[in-house]
Amino acid sequence: MQNTIAIVGRPNVGKSTLFNRLVGERKAIMDNQSGVTRDRHYGYGDWTGKYFTVIDTGGYVVGSDDVFEEGIRKQVKLAIDEAQVVLFMVDVDAGLHPLDEEFANVLRRYQDKKPIYLVVNKVDSTQRFQAAGEFYALGIGTGDLFPISSQSGSGTGELLDAVISHF
Ligand code: GDP
Ligand code: MG
Repeated sequence: MQNTIAIVGRPNVGKSTLFNRLVGERKAIMDNQSGVTRDRHYGYGDWTGKYFTVIDTGGYVVGSDDVFEEGIRKQVKLAIDEAQVVLFMVDVDAGLHPLDEEFANVLRRYQDKKPIYLVVNKVDSTQRFQAAGEFYALGIGTGDLFPISSQSGSGTGELLDAVISHF
């Protein structure tokens, strides 16, 4: 889809918090219109006059370890199929997690096809800003990483500036 952003990542990194920040009140309307299932949510947002659709893919990664890998593949496939830009979110508070590595391994295959942005969330302090660098080890994304706080909104402007350059 044109001008579509998908947010992927393991549970609890803050995908839905960012989604809600980006789309505000415009989520329910989209969901009702498109009759979507619980495994994803669509919303509508804008930044500096450019309009975009956001997909929160969170619902896929659930259950025991066995279904995690399958869930990751489904979530990534959906994001790659439907979005023009993919945000891969990790959590600086939790640090580098084995599931982040699994996501990176799946996403890496699509790096030539779609721009993938590595978004380090929960960067709420200077200390956490410094800690964010550990995620470079994932070796995924455009080369930069984007430290943000979905809760306060800090860093999200820089991220959106970069993302909408593709639209
Ligand atoms: P999801 O499972 O990836 O969709 O994650 P959620 O959006 O549900 O967030 C998981 C938890 O992280 C919630 O308790 C959020 O309040 C918290 N959270 C999300 N963003 C931030 C942030 O920027 N800073 C902090 N400190 N907590 C956050
Ligand atoms: Mg969620």
